[in-house]
Formats: sequence, structure tokens, C-alpha cells
Amino acid sequence: MQRQFMPFALPDIGPEEIDAVVQCLKSGWVTTGPISKAFEEEFANYISFGKPVYAVAVNSASMGLLLAMEALGIGYQDEVIVPTYTFSASAMMAVHLGAKPVLVDILSPCLNISPEAIESAITSKTKAIMVVHFAGRPANLDAIKKIAKKHGLFVIEDAAHALPTIYNGNVIGSNTSDVTVFSFYATKTITCGEGGMVVTANKEIADRIKIMRLHGISRDVFDRYTSSDVKWAYEIVAPGSKCNLTDVAASIGREQLKKCDFFYARRKKIADYYRDRLKSLPLLLPDEENSGNQHAWHLFVIRLSSELKISRDDFIKKMSEMMIGCSVHFIPLHLHKYYQSSFGYKLGDFPVSEAAFNAAVSLPIYTKMSDADVEYVANSIIEICNNT
Ligand SMILES: *Cc1c(COP(=O)(O)O)cnc(C)c1O
Repeated sequence: MQRQFMPFALPDIGPEEIDAVVQCLKSGWVTTGPISKAFEEEFANYISFGKPVYAVAVNSASMGLLLAMEALGIGYQDEVIVPTYTFSASAMMAVHLGAKPVLVDILSPCLNISPEAIESAITSKTKAIMVVHFAGRPANLDAIKKIAKKHGLFVIEDAAHALPTIYNGNVIGSNTSDVTVFSFYATKTITCGEGGMVVTANKEIADRIKIMRLHGISRDVFDRYTSSDVKWAYEIVAPGSKCNLTDVAASIGREQLKKCDFFYARRKKIADYYRDRLKSLPLLLPDEENSGNQHAWHLFVIRLSSELKISRDDFIKKMSEMMIGCSVHFIPLHLHKYYQSSFGYKLGDFPVSEAAFNAAVSLPIYTKMSDADVEYVANSIIEICNNT
């Protein structure tokens, strides 16, 4: 029998999500409303462990990052320090505010932003540091926050991979920085199809984002009118946008959130299995986290050693021939045309990221994989390594 192709990622949608969506559709209220609000409250509770944080639901993490930076006052000619080894949204949203993303290199083997590189990139225009918890592994927030404090900078966490991630006993998002942004994109650890959540302990920032995510309409004014007879009235108080999360999407998100710990446990089990089976091969494997920390295992990125006589691209091709989907995270931003032509970056600028990129393969790691799937992936890698 022909083996079915194993995709690189798959959402885990069960009858609970489907029922919740159907209920929402039948309710007659499909845009932002009571379900999004409940999702925000439940998400804040899940993340905060009793600490007071505000969660604001948005239509993507990308727009969440934009609104977070806008709320922090980042704008024209400001600089935001961003690791080059990330998805474009981490850097590009600054451009939309008239600010400049300043790329820096990462550390190996953790593949997270280098505190030393941050420090050397700081100028009088620097306003914020964008931290990405690559693959779900917490970045060195203590060192980063120390630098931020010394130079009066904001820290924004792109936590698109970091649900649930723990750093020094603190859940990412539980007031671990000025603003933290999560993604519910289709491949992330929980999904709404598309969606995101901005989390902050600062009420002013949360209030600003709530206004800016929906046309700059002030809730206070809106509520004042809607509680009276004048239900049609509203007031525009700022140049807002359209980044609200629909109740249809939030219905999925609420059910996914209930499964978040179970999903995590399954991914951790897969990660442990991969590490055990692949440990004697010429591969650089991601480490287990130190105590007090938790890696969310959104991605499992192996790196091919130069001992292997197979290129990264050929390795992925071989895996594909064996019906296994792999991916690469990430093509460093400074190697993309836009970042080169707009900011003058070039090949050679960030050697640690380039070396990581050239050797990196992301393996499938998701809850819909069966034990047999996981075993087959490991066996296939062993076979490729032993035959090259
Ligand atoms: C997926 C991702 C984003 C964007 O998330 P969206 O919800 O799709 O906008 C941002 N940063 C990183 C590191 C990501 O992986």
C-alpha cells in the first residue's frame, strides 16, 4: 500500500471546535462579541497564574505586533532591534509605523537573539527590543531586560512560538515584558485559523490597542451611548485600523485553549522521542530546557552536521520522497531582497544565523501524528544518515 504523505503541520480540530463554531453561527452574532471577550478572559487566566494581565484578541499576531508597537509610541524614524532569524512579521510591522527594524544575530545552539548583539546595535534612536522565543524556547529575558532597563528601551515579545513557554518559572505573557504577542495561525500550537492575542500588564497599553484594533472607536464613549437609548452612536478618537478577532474564530480558539496543555504534553513526548532516537547521528539536536524553563516545542529544528555528505535541500527532498513533509525556519531576514534593498543588509552580515539556516531542517511535530508516524520519521532520518 502506498504511504500517504505526512504534512509538515496539521491543526488538531475536534468535534468540540466544530460544535462551538456551529453554535456561534446559529447565534446570529459572528463578528467580535461575547465569545471573543470570553476568549480574552480565559486566555489571560491561562497565561497569568493570578497576575493581573490584559489580553486583547486580534486577527493575527502580525497586527498584534503592529498595535503593540503603536501603543508603545513607536513611530517615524525610531529603531526596533529584531533578530534576523525570525519570520518577517517580527520586523516588518515596525516599517508600517515608519520605524526601522535593526537586525541582529542570534546565539547558537539556542537560536535566540544574542544579548551582546543587541547591546552593540543600540543607538540614540533605539526604542524597543523585539524578542522572539524561537521554536518555543525561551530567550534570555533576564539579560535582555537588563539591557533594556539600562538604555530605557521597551521589550516586546513575539511569542508566536511560545505557548506555553516558561522562563525562570514565569509563563511567557505573565508580565514577562512590556507587551507579549501570541499567534493562532494555522500551524501554531493552538489555532483559530487566523488570530492573535496581545497580552500586557499595562492597562493604558491594552486600552489603546482595543481602540486601535477597531477603527479608533472609543469603547467608553460607545458603552456610554449603548447603555442609553442611543444605540447607533459612536465616536472616533484615533486613526484606528481593522484587526479585531471574530467570534467565529474565537469559538475555535476557546476550545483549543482548553487543550493547550494536552497538546504541549504530546509535542514534548514527540520531542523527547526524536532526541532519543536521533542522538547518535551527525545532527545537532535541540536540547531539553533547564529546570525552571519550558520549551513549547512548536518546532523541532535539527541541524545537519558537515560530516553528513548530504545538503540540507537534498535531505528535505529525500524526506519528501519518503512521504514526510519538512520545512526550514527561517530564511534569515537579511537574505531577503526587501531587507537588502531597503536597509543595505547583505550575505555575510550575520554568520551565526546563516550557518543555522544552511543546516536547519524542521521536522513534523504535532498532536495529530500517531506514534507510528513519529517512529517512521525517526527511522527515515536514520536511514538517510546511514546511507550518505
Ligand atoms: C507565525 C509568526 C508570526 C505571525 O503570526 P500571524 O498570526 O500569522 O500574524 C510572527 N512571528 C513569528 C516568529 C511567527 O512564527
